[in-house]
Amino acid sequence: MIIIILVYGLVIGSFLNVCIYRIPHGMSIVFPHSFCPNCQSRIKWYDLFPVISYLILGGRCRNCRTFIGIQYPLVEIFTAGIGVGLYFRFGLNAIFLKYIILFCLLIVIAGIDLQHRVIPNILSISGMIIGLLWAVPYGGTDIFHAVLGMAVGGLILLPLAYFYPQGMGMGDVKLLAMIGSFVGAKVVLAALFCGSALGTVIGLILIGSKVITRKTPIPFGPFLAVGALVSVIILN
Ligand SMILES: [Zn+2]
Repeated sequence: MIIIILVYGLVIGSFLNVCIYRIPHGMSIVFPHSFCPNCQSRIKWYDLFPVISYLILGGRCRNCRTFIGIQYPLVEIFTAGIGVGLYFRFGLNAIFLKYIILFCLLIVIAGIDLQHRVIPNILSISGMIIGLLWAVPYGGTDIFHAVLGMAVGGLILLPLAYFYPQGMGMGDVKLLAMIGSFVGAKVVLAALFCGSALGTVIGLILIGSKVITRKTPIPFGPFLAVGALVSVIILN
């Protein structure tokens, strides 16, 4: 079972890479076939194996030899690793599937936020809708928790985004609302706390080691995503 989840995770991770690259450019995530961003050459089917192709080609395009970035195998390995982690924590059931959807969304959002400092509405808003709809078949308290989680997640960052827009964007507000719609109020607060603590520590380390200055904007989305992962594994 673990091997099956690992293989699926790597393949899904490869698709998430396509989403991270194409969604900010307004491109379709289905067509065209995968191509090299530098020379536009179509990537052959035998070069599309997650991680393995990357290692064989040394992370370069077969045609133009441009380095394509460590992000690709990392996203594939993260996705597979999260899949296995969720399987160990929850087993193979509807909860597992719900969190797979949440973390696939979060991986794409974190990747786009890191590269472009934006969180596309198409991801956060559709995520909120999926989070709410998921609770419907379970009825009563589950719908209540999803709505409450979304409200708490959205409202808690709203004043910060209003009074301190250079540090907190509306993208982060909608992202936390989306996380809340999947995990409920208790876990979304834990995710915010955990993400803020992690962001502060990493920010201080980067400023201390002069990699960035105090003025450099740090994307919050990736930290919220990690905070959500830790909180879901520990609390849910
Ligand atoms: Zn190329």
